[in-house]
Amino acid sequence: MQKAIYPGSFDPLHNGHLDVIGRAARLCDSVVVAIAANASKNALLSTAERIDIIKNATAHLPEVSVTEFEGLLVDFVIEQKADCIIRGLRAISDFEYEFQMALMNRQLRSTVETIFLMPSQEYIYLSSRIIKEIAATGNDVRDFISEKAAVAVEKKLALKKK
Ligand code: ADP
Repeated sequence: MQKAIYPGSFDPLHNGHLDVIGRAARLCDSVVVAIAANASKNALLSTAERIDIIKNATAHLPEVSVTEFEGLLVDFVIEQKADCIIRGLRAISDFEYEFQMALMNRQLRSTVETIFLMPSQEYIYLSSRIIKEIAATGNDVRDFISEKAAVAVEKKLALKKK
């Protein structure tokens, strides 16, 4: 497998995402972590902040790059001449949506395959939403996200409170 796109909102990137990125980097020659611009409207962190956090957390993985994309994911995959889409599966609750998306993407562009990777068991309960909820109550989230991500999330939440 040569080039993979790992799309998502990554608001913020957490250890479950990182686990999936590490697995994809072992399987593929290159992995593009792609932040969906259409999911950015309601995001806590700006795209630039999210790119910075992902670049910092994946600096040890030379196969990994980070960018933003607009429009349909399948169009971006083709534009990038990528071979597949990587998605993470945490639980059965992810399955229905992911299954629907993968089949719709295949319907739109028959050459685009989706590969599902499961994280290490210790990360299956992690989601960006839950991390933001915990951080909003003033609790430390450094067990789940990088120091850089934690600082950015705390700063944004403090600004929101004002
Ligand atoms: P979304 O695209 O739904 O906004 P995210 O940006 O949070 O989701 O996640 C991007 C991808 O990472 C999705 O495929 C999602 O299923 C996966 N993912 C999210 N959290 C985890 C986790 N804890 N373990 C494995 N994969 C995850």
